[in-house]
Amino acid sequence: MPKPSFDIDSVIAGTSRLTDAQALELYHNASMHDLGQWALAASQRLHPEDYRTYVIDRNINYTNVCTAKCTFCAFRRDHEDAADSYTAQLRRDREKNSGAGRDQRHPKSSCRAA
Ligand code: SF4
Repeated sequence: MPKPSFDIDSVIAGTSRLTDAQALELYHNASMHDLGQWALAASQRLHPEDYRTYVIDRNINYTNVCTAKCTFCAFRRDHEDAADSYTAQLRRDREKNSGAGRDQRHPKSSCRAA
């Protein structure tokens, strides 16, 4: 990408914020490489430590019956009576997923109709 039309260095330095128009300019024109470099620079300014932490996250899909019809989805089953549909008991999953190293759990129901 040619140099942005605005002062990207001030954004990275934290002395200015991206406007909507500037973000759109980057969205349309910036390379993934440039975005990655700028993001890394901003990250290093905010967190200069030489380590990163993370959260072990677990999404519990307690059912695969869903009323949404996302075109990319191979997970969804439209009907409860489909041969491979399931609805788990949340209590069982809570027990199965408890313990050290699992910091965060997200029961997800997709978009199942009530
Ligand atoms: S909401 Fe989730 S489960 Fe439902 S169709 Fe979309 S991607 Fe699939």
